[in-house]
Amino acid sequence: MDKSLFLLLLLISSQVFSQAPKLTGNINISVKTGVIDANFKLENIPKIKNYLIYLNTGFNIQYLRSEANTFNYATRKEYNPDLTDESFGYYLPDDTGKAKFLPSALRFKYTGKFPVIADKKKASDRGDWKGNIAFNGKTIRADGLQTGWYPVLYDVDTDKKYHMMAHDIVVKCEDCRSIYVNGSEPISAQEGRFKRDEPVELILFAGDYDFAQESGSFYLNTELSPMELKTLGKISSEFKRYYESKLSLAYGENIVYVHTTPVSLENAWLFVSFPAIVNISHKKGFKELFNEDEEDKAWFKQFLAHELAHYYFGTYRKFNSALGDMFTESFAEYLSLKLSRDLLGEQAYEKNIDKNGLESMLRHSPQCRASNLLWITVIEIPTFIFMPHLYGWLLNGSLVKR
Ligand SMILES: [Zn+2]
Repeated sequence: MDKSLFLLLLLISSQVFSQAPKLTGNINISVKTGVIDANFKLENIPKIKNYLIYLNTGFNIQYLRSEANTFNYATRKEYNPDLTDESFGYYLPDDTGKAKFLPSALRFKYTGKFPVIADKKKASDRGDWKGNIAFNGKTIRADGLQTGWYPVLYDVDTDKKYHMMAHDIVVKCEDCRSIYVNGSEPISAQEGRFKRDEPVELILFAGDYDFAQESGSFYLNTELSPMELKTLGKISSEFKRYYESKLSLAYGENIVYVHTTPVSLENAWLFVSFPAIVNISHKKGFKELFNEDEEDKAWFKQFLAHELAHYYFGTYRKFNSALGDMFTESFAEYLSLKLSRDLLGEQAYEKNIDKNGLESMLRHSPQCRASNLLWITVIEIPTFIFMPHLYGWLLNGSLVKR
């Protein structure tokens, strides 16, 4: 793989945030019936020639309308599961019908009804995933990037998604006790206004749950005791401080911890979109940190270290292209391995090396294609362009010196 290609990809991705669209308007939700009614306006839309606007395939669109609220646009839609399984891509044809037209603001009205899977006996073994708008009978869980519950602009030519939004929206949910929109404080109410000027991915988590606050962080539906909240807060702070000191980059903001159950029997995963870390499983969620079993605890800490590292690779620095996910994951894992060696001990570190099968890859790096990819990912990406401190750190006592 040509190094200059990677450079190019990184340079393209460095244009991120030059112009983030703003989402305004309101959305009504029922967690009991799975209904979503949205009435949004997208403003500050960047000028993009070849674009699509993603919205979940479960939505019926009433209109895409002019900003002045005077007429509805003619729209076309595409479905390309290579780009996203979950959403249709909408666009406005221009007068010739051959090119696309994109105004600087657009109104959207759409509605959808989604399955509410409250009865575990009738749930599939698998069939929940990050891009699912999930109603589990108590709550709705939706990420922003993948589910497309709000309009996500996509620049086809540069492979850039504008899922991080400034916003000022009203969320109403009459059968909810609490509502959280990523980047704002959760509320105990059936209706609330969520407003933020810095762009953020709008994860939505609303329904019948409690939340707590400790050391600046919010804990949604985690069922952690006050003592446990303190302990998790302490560990997170320690990990964040470690990354901050090694990277010389301030850690963004306080984490919001969310636990919820999947709408399938066996799926379990965590995802992070700052400031939220969302844990989806039928198990105890963040309580696993307090299991008797030392191995469970160590595993959980390593997991947390990986997720926290995604602030730097995933939020602070984003990668596009088909290889973007590989960069993001490899860097986050690399940082978490450094952390586990320094803070959790040599044994925890060795275990994770073995678990990842890294040992053999590293030992045979010149011969092994996979390891070459890893090598490129971890060492050769010229991170010094953007993050000189990280580059110095990678060279100074990196994994490969073992
Ligand atoms: Zn990850």
